[in-house]
Amino acid sequence: MLHAMPDDLSDTHREIRALARDFAEGEIVPNASAWNDQQHVPLEVIKQMGALGLLGIVVPEEYGGSGLDATSLALVMEEIACADAGTSVAIAVQNGLVASPIVRAGTEDQKHEWLPGIASGEMIGCYALTEPGAGSDTAVLSTKATASADGWNLTGTKQWITNGGIADVFVIFARTGGDGARGISALVSPKANGLLVGREIPKMGLHSSSTVELAFDGLHVSRSGLLGAEGEGLKLALATLDGGRISVAAQAVGIARAALELAVKYASERQAFGGSIARFQGVQFPIADIAAQVDAARLLTLHAAGLRDAGHPHGAAGAKAKLFASSVAVRAADVAVQTLGGYGYSREYNAERYYRDAKITEIYEGTSEIQRLVIARSLFGDAAR
Ligand SMILES: Cc1cc2nc3c(=O)[nH]c(=O)nc-3n(C[C@H](O)[C@H](O)[C@H](O)COP(=O)(O)OP(=O)(O)OC[C@H]3O[C@@H](n4cnc5c(N)ncnc54)[C@H](O)[C@@H]3O)c2cc1C
Repeated sequence: MLHAMPDDLSDTHREIRALARDFAEGEIVPNASAWNDQQHVPLEVIKQMGALGLLGIVVPEEYGGSGLDATSLALVMEEIACADAGTSVAIAVQNGLVASPIVRAGTEDQKHEWLPGIASGEMIGCYALTEPGAGSDTAVLSTKATASADGWNLTGTKQWITNGGIADVFVIFARTGGDGARGISALVSPKANGLLVGREIPKMGLHSSSTVELAFDGLHVSRSGLLGAEGEGLKLALATLDGGRISVAAQAVGIARAALELAVKYASERQAFGGSIARFQGVQFPIADIAAQVDAARLLTLHAAGLRDAGHPHGAAGAKAKLFASSVAVRAADVAVQTLGGYGYSREYNAERYYRDAKITEIYEGTSEIQRLVIARSLFGDAAR
């Protein structure tokens, strides 16, 4: 199937996209249903993606990464998510949520300590921001970092932490100071005493990705684990999410493309009333609408990634891409289920998995309402606050 693409993709971008597509088609597509049933992607597969350079796309080469850019990450995310959204989450978290803040704010020692392992997949990382009482409103987070002689001791609970149960390295946002945004610092820590992995949270979709609760019961983080300046943690968290949203938009494009391709194939083959159902406008038109929307979502996503790569402000562009692409993913999956009729409702076809997986793209790394807030603030400035 032909896809709208900007003409200016470099050879490097085309190569990384081709590498991700080959891996997705060869290794993920044949196993995606089984991994979703088994509720995890095998660790060896995550490590294989590390060996291919997919977990350290945005990590500079001097720290063992691929030294590529946000456009490369978006292209890879689309390919992997098209095969299995849950598998693509590992790439988004490792690159966008764990490596990125270390690249942005880490000391040389921290970069050398963590980035090579994250890029190779020898170390699985997680990003622990959300709490039971603090999701969209992260400024009220309550995980407490109490000062000790050489650092902090953490107490509190984190919720919805992707890969928290298998992580070796934890980027944690905790309150080292008083109330409000300026009391929050970012810390990076290995797994250690006082870090407790709670229950696996049962989910509607994304079954091949693990999501857990974490509890801190006196986890000690030394001063060398402070990421960026004390009190600047929330800023770092939000800057990280600015980039992460572009990856989620690309993930949504991948899910939408998978749904579109399935709907086209099925409609072309399914016979009813003496021919294929593809000859009915009632079947064609919703699919035609989705084809246009998938291309538009991809272009918005690559536009946001291009702005980031050029060093331009990209917060609003990323929010627009995520807002639009996630709604396209949800609609595309709905159209796929409807096109397949009863088979769309069956666990034996992928349409229902796309339907369950698409919804998360409207929720994590900022709900659609929060994306609208970001866009509105870019339009109205302080008048929108
Ligand atoms: C599968 C999964 C994986 C995740 N992985 C991670 C992870 O690895 N690390 C991590 O830190 N977090 C993670 N999250 C958390 C995720 O980012 C949050 O769930 C999300 O930001 C929303 O927060 P919340 O669930 O507390 O919803 P709430 O903030 O309670 O929102 C509830 C509703 O209120 C709306 N709302 C809230 N504020 C406003 C407002 N100002 N204006 C209009 N509407 C508003 C929201 O849009 C939403 O519809 C994950 C979540 C899921 C489901």
